[in-house]
Amino acid sequence: MNERLVLLGTKGGPALRPGGPMPTASLLQIGGRTAVIDCALGVTRGLVDAGVALKTLDLVFITHLHSDHVLELGALLHTAWTAGLATPVKVYGPVGTGDVWTHFCRSLAYDIDIRIDDEGRPDIRQLVEVTEFGDGPVMQEAGLTVEALRVDHPPVTECYALRFSHGGRRVVFSADTCHFPPLADFARDADILVHEAMLAAGVDRLVARTGNGARLKAHLMASHTLVEDAGRIASDAGCAHLVLNHLIPADDPDFGPGDWEEAVRRTWAGPLTIGRDGLELPLIEAPAATA
Ligand SMILES: [Zn+2]
Ligand SMILES: [Zn+2]
Repeated sequence: MNERLVLLGTKGGPALRPGGPMPTASLLQIGGRTAVIDCALGVTRGLVDAGVALKTLDLVFITHLHSDHVLELGALLHTAWTAGLATPVKVYGPVGTGDVWTHFCRSLAYDIDIRIDDEGRPDIRQLVEVTEFGDGPVMQEAGLTVEALRVDHPPVTECYALRFSHGGRRVVFSADTCHFPPLADFARDADILVHEAMLAAGVDRLVARTGNGARLKAHLMASHTLVEDAGRIASDAGCAHLVLNHLIPADDPDFGPGDWEEAVRRTWAGPLTIGRDGLELPLIEAPAATA
């Protein structure tokens, strides 16, 4: 298996626009495992386009229960099941993730039951195991360790950055958060930090276009991170590579990669990737002794 990070969806927020990017979902293949981080609308299509056979779905992590991170969780698992999934899938998410899954199964009970009877499929309700996590260790299996750090994303109280460690490599996802200095420690020496980012110049235009004014702007400023601060976290953490993701705005033709780069270069001098859907980054190989 190629060890890689693939950004499946890179825009912040649930709105879709013609030809624009999809909301947040990522694929991380590390240590022989396939992990999906966040399941916004489009995650299933993104995985297929990235060459992942859905029936090999293995691990799913949800950072928080905003719809632009979880809307397609049930549909992804169900589509994997109809694609032949017959092995257990582990889903990790904050408190409430279990309800999202059980209520989805209830809403699709007619289809699920009929496919079990008619097509002889195993019961998907028994294939999926949901574990709810808080601050601290999330899972440890065969050299892969996943840990969570509660970040600051009001009014959501259960929102977690995630750190994946395997064979001496670390990949960290900030999740949605306002500028949160403890992330620098959590992301210390990460090979890749995937950090959410907002462009100040773009926010006013976005707010004007969306038409819900001062309130939306207040929400954005209180619960998301300006790209200069994302760069600051990466610099303080000593990360090897910063990936900007969950971009706000993501689909305004007046703001492109040059604007993001110009803003983040005030605080980050290292390797930089500005997220776009389908973008793939290979992971550096694990040292042989610890692989
Ligand atoms: Zn979000
Ligand atoms: Zn959010």
